[in-house]
Amino acid sequence: MTDADAAPCSVGVVVVAAGSGSRLGAALPKAFVPLGGRPLLGHALDTVARLAHVAAVVVVVPPGLDDTSAPPWAGVDLPPHAVVVAGGASRTESVSAGLAAVGDVDVVLVHDAARCLTPLEVFERVVAAVAAGAAGAVPGIPVVDTVKTVDSLGVITGTPERASLRAVQTPQGFVREVLVAAHASGVGATDDAALVELGGHRVLVVEGDPLAFKVTTADDLDRAERVLAQRAGATGASGAVGAVGPGLRH
Ligand code: C5P
Repeated sequence: MTDADAAPCSVGVVVVAAGSGSRLGAALPKAFVPLGGRPLLGHALDTVARLAHVAAVVVVVPPGLDDTSAPPWAGVDLPPHAVVVAGGASRTESVSAGLAAVGDVDVVLVHDAARCLTPLEVFERVVAAVAAGAAGAVPGIPVVDTVKTVDSLGVITGTPERASLRAVQTPQGFVREVLVAAHASGVGATDDAALVELGGHRVLVVEGDPLAFKVTTADDLDRAERVLAQRAGATGASGAVGAVGPGLRH
């Protein structure tokens, strides 16, 4: 039995793609920047399309970019049941907009389009953990650097024990009602787990994957291009591995 088989609940996926990507320095919003000739968002959705038990997909994009027939969408295969909504000024606002459109599912996954090469197995581990009873589950990997906390002057105020630290990734999965309540609090955070933790819920860290890295800088984009090229070399294909079932090609 695979992790996916162990998760007979309905899953909604909110893919947040409404960031400007200013640190990438591209002319387009980050999710629409090409990787292997197709937008980052297209690669992210290829994997979502392969996930079992998905009942709803919501793609959250910058206001004004929600016309899926417009040129930036070329190369994005939207799952047939996907809806596209406009995001907000912060990631938290964009997730809230997506949540409002996800409908009545058991589990919601929130995924950064910028983590466009996240392996399917990471999605499956997160879903399986929530299906097995966790209020929330997030992928994480051990931290290799020693991490310091600092004050506003840059003076070190603490050194958390490295072995207890994890760098967390997406998709982050939650019981839908738990995530909806967390967002209703109106608090902002850089990830959804932080909001759910504030509500007193236990959030589990499951095994993440280095390939779930977030494309933030031009160096990250180069790294993603190299990963794609290696995959193409390994499969003899020219694009993403294991892409898409039926969907719309714009
Ligand atoms: O800003 P950052 O790169 O950390 O964004 C992580 C994810 O959140 C990206 O996929 C980005 O498109 C999304 N985001 C969003 N709305 C915002 C800011 C970020 O959907 N206002």
